[in-house]
Amino acid sequence: MAQRGVLVISVEPGSLAEGAGIKAGDTLLEINGEKVLDQLNYQFLMSQKDETMLRLERPDKSLFEVSAENGGDGIGLDLAQDDVKICKQNCVFCFVHQMPKGYRKSLYLKDEDIRLSFLYGHFSTLSSSDDAELSRIVRERLSPIHVSVHCTDPDVRVKVVGNPREGDILRKIDRLLEGGIDVHTQAVIAPGLNDDWVWEKTLRELWERRAYQSKGKWAGKGGVLSLSCVPVGLTAHRENLPEVQDVGADYAQAWVKRWTKEARHYAAANEGEPWLLLADEWFTRGDVQVPGRDFYSESWAQLENGVGLVRKFLEHTRRFIKSDKAKRFKGRKAMLLTGSSFAPILNRVLAQLNREVGSQLRAVAVRNNDFGESVTVAGLLTGRDLMYAAHADRDTKGPVEAVVVPSASLRTHTGPTDQYTLHGVIVARAEGTFLDDMTLDELTEDLQTPVVPSGANLSQLLDHLEAAERTSGISSRDLQKAFHKTGMNLPQGAYNP
Ligand code: SF4
Repeated sequence: MAQRGVLVISVEPGSLAEGAGIKAGDTLLEINGEKVLDQLNYQFLMSQKDETMLRLERPDKSLFEVSAENGGDGIGLDLAQDDVKICKQNCVFCFVHQMPKGYRKSLYLKDEDIRLSFLYGHFSTLSSSDDAELSRIVRERLSPIHVSVHCTDPDVRVKVVGNPREGDILRKIDRLLEGGIDVHTQAVIAPGLNDDWVWEKTLRELWERRAYQSKGKWAGKGGVLSLSCVPVGLTAHRENLPEVQDVGADYAQAWVKRWTKEARHYAAANEGEPWLLLADEWFTRGDVQVPGRDFYSESWAQLENGVGLVRKFLEHTRRFIKSDKAKRFKGRKAMLLTGSSFAPILNRVLAQLNREVGSQLRAVAVRNNDFGESVTVAGLLTGRDLMYAAHADRDTKGPVEAVVVPSASLRTHTGPTDQYTLHGVIVARAEGTFLDDMTLDELTEDLQTPVVPSGANLSQLLDHLEAAERTSGISSRDLQKAFHKTGMNLPQGAYNP
């Protein structure tokens, strides 16, 4: 059932809303006669006129109206989090279907929401976007949107997304482009399914719609800003699922060889702006060096999608190692736990840092026992796996002063990945917990050694180690607070190619 209005969570003291008599617990139903759908829609409707008429409902169901002059910072209403939408697809490689059993409920949510796509760069297959929603995207200028295309051939797409009604993705994309919306796109490549001619067709048809196209049918419209290709990710938990071939090292190497060259041609034909993007996982799985800085866009397009994380880390490291700050690593002895795909790269970087400044840092490749060995990224490591790896490394190589865990495995922020509302109920993950609900405190206690999150680069790691030193003897929850005080939000993406 459609949500009826949006709940007011709080009203800023002294605000226009408070002056108008709006209270926490009221429900905002309409603005200037239009139904309010969610927070984004609220902001849009409020921006339409200087003078707005709001229709609300009290908890006792009585209705009232207030008029408010819309100030630059809004009128001081804090509205409830939106219910996330659930996808209607059944993709053959859906990660949620391949999750081991027994984790918390929020990890099994198949969210697919154009609001998250617009706000946070989540990819959507547009399965829950009907014509009304596409019109809304256009009207509210929710641009750019991130779309999981996977392939443009309708027959193959039906197989890939497991939904007979969702073959024709180009119809939806064209509707957005015609409305002036730009689109970032991605294709998850499953060998034998949507590679080969299917991929080439996808590439051709999306390239025709690229943003920098200045002539022809698409002139003056929105455009496809980028197309990334990402190798399929399979876990050890694919019971009763369609057979999907994995991307092995040979396949990844062949892909890199052909498509990095093609990607440079596309960039050259696109006014120098990289358009065809290869996820880092192609390089790490194929054990091939990632390309230089010029291979990636100025703005690191699709970084959140794993495109360019390794290069960005290496670029930062190159500068950092020469800095005065790097010298503060001198004498530090720590193990850095990370996914097996990133460990060799990190080891090379640490060897260089150790040589330059006299530190004793070592990278430890953590085997993913929960999801299966084929899962090699840091973001899917559980507290349990990190704990086993830390013990094993310490038993063979001796004690360290600190154990560093990938920030990506922690989700200490309260971003959309870990906080949803479903039918009005917030399904959230506690701060400082790993996927399996183990906390930083528990891991610290088990290892009897300070455990610190990596941060996004070596500079942040150093800040975290120093913060841990200053606060040694206190709980890691307090440590988290100390990190927050330093302005570090322990971002995702660290060591997470
Ligand atoms: S759209 Fe995403 S969440 Fe939905 S089935 Fe496909 S992969 Fe899973």
